[in-house]
This record gives sequence, C-alpha cells and structure tokens, in this order.
Amino acid sequence: MAPLEGLGFVVDWVDRAAYWREHPAEVARLRARADARALLIARDMPVLHNSERLDSLLPMSEIEALGGAQVEALLGLAPSGAPIFAALLPDEAVEMRSDGSDGFFDRRILVVPGRDDLKLVDLRSIAVGGLLPPDQTAMLAAAKALMHWHARRRFCSNCGSPDDVAVAGWRRDCKVCGATHFPRTDPVVIMLAVHGEACLLGRQPRFPKGMYSALAGFVEPGETIEAAVRREIREEAAVTCRAVQYFASQPWPFPASLMIGCFAQAESRSVEVDRVELEDARWFSREETIALLERRHPDGLMAPTPMAIAHHLLKRWAYKGIEFSE
Ligand SMILES: [Zn+2]
Repeated sequence: MAPLEGLGFVVDWVDRAAYWREHPAEVARLRARADARALLIARDMPVLHNSERLDSLLPMSEIEALGGAQVEALLGLAPSGAPIFAALLPDEAVEMRSDGSDGFFDRRILVVPGRDDLKLVDLRSIAVGGLLPPDQTAMLAAAKALMHWHARRRFCSNCGSPDDVAVAGWRRDCKVCGATHFPRTDPVVIMLAVHGEACLLGRQPRFPKGMYSALAGFVEPGETIEAAVRREIREEAAVTCRAVQYFASQPWPFPASLMIGCFAQAESRSVEVDRVELEDARWFSREETIALLERRHPDGLMAPTPMAIAHHLLKRWAYKGIEFSE
C-alpha cells in the first residue's frame, strides 16, 4: 500500500539494532560515539532543543547536564548510522508551571529551569502541527511509549520487588523471582462501519468541538481483530456488521497503543448510541464525509487531522470507496 500522506508516527525510521541489545559493551561503545544522539522524555513529554528550529535529537551530554537519566534505551541506528538513544529524565529535571489539559491535548506547561534553549512540547501537538521532521516524530513515538512503560514499571508485577532495566532498555528483569517483563503495546481497533453511501461516525465527550471520528476500542484477551471490530460497533452504536477488512495500522503513543484500522460492512443504518462511551454517533453521507475532511461542513463539523489514521479511513472510503470480500 502507498504511504498515507501525513499519517503520524509511521516512518520506518531506523535500524532498531536489536542484535546489539544483549551486548552491553557494544551499547556503551555506541553511546560514546560523537554522533550519538538522545531523545529526552520528562514527565511523558519530549524535551526539544529550541533555536532557529525545533530539534529532538540532543547530544548525549545533555543527559548528564539535566541530572542523569532514570532509564536509557538504545532505539537503534538512524539512516546516517548515528546511534539513537531514548532517555527518561527524573521528574525533578522539569518544573510544571500550569496544567490546562482538556483530556485530548496535553496542555501542561513544563520547563527546564535556567534552560531557555530547551522546550517541552507534547507529542500530539508536535504531530498535528508538523513541528518536527516525520522521522523524528516517529522516533519520539517509540521513545515516549517505551519511557512511559519504564516510568510505571519500577517494581516486578509478579512479586513486588524492585526490578532492573535490561537488554539496552527493552526489558525489565526481577532478580528476586526471575520474572522478565517486556514493554507493552496495546492493540486498539479503529473502524469505519459503512453501509452503501453512508459511514458511521461518533464523538467522545473529550473530542475537540465538532469533531466526529471512526469508532474505536481495545482488543480484549482472547479476541480476534475482526471480533473486536464487530463487538465495539455493536456495543457503542448497536449496529451489526458482517465483513471486516484490514486497512492500515499506526503506532499511537498515548500512552502505548497500536491502532489497527479496519472497514466493517454494516447490515443496516439503524443506530442506538451508548451514551456512556459516546456523546453522539450517526450516519454521514459520502458528500457530508468529504465536507468533514475538507473542513467545509455546514454545521462546522470536522474529521480528525491527517496525522491520525481515522482521517485516512474516511478519506479512502469517501474518495475511493471500499469493496468487501465476504
Ligand atoms: Zn519478581
């Protein structure tokens, strides 16, 4: 499939160099190289260098300058060959000046005291605004998701003892009970139910005003992607679907999901909204969906921006249509 233009976090940016992860001496050698760079995360927010333009790739010396890292991970090798690390700074490295978060955008104002050349920007704003080159945004997605996991897994979930960072930041090992813990990625299905010339969209109360999107939900244990798609649409809108077709996927580091985009073939256009999950859900005609995408809907309604896979599900169906293979 052709790359989806503007979709965030999906650049195949790097050789992940997994073959070095179990070789500490080699990881140390890579870390000591002059071209090694670090992506810094503090309190779940990327720390960027802010001069003529924003840059997420900082010299390794910044880690020590900012008080040392709680965790470091080898993310891989950039196309230039430069080693790329992720580092989790202690919470005390940054100060929170205010918090205007609205459940959608992270609107905390975080600063590094005495360092006007550094700026903390939440990753959703970076992706929506195109503030960094796509490959850096993709690297940050990996760094943020991985460091989010480390920050909350300092104790073994099996026996409760403190555990240790292992294999270059890609595992945590418990010396007491011997358990090994791997970073999580949580699968989420996001699906566009279609019926002839109409598609089903909903809005969650936390969405920006006027935004309608594809329905979504976590895949549960013991469930296939197809079953999760059918279940979520049935639960949230009481719509029964037959065929389910995979479209594309997207890493979604809020905090650590993989969005699995699908189309679903609805049996009818009846709809009954689950008001606990959704503020509204309804069918939109193809013309209306195009108006949402092009931001000219008469009621001021809109689709998500191109950084999100929902935009591309809508776009594919609205402009090209979709054939279901039963
Ligand atoms: Zn343990």
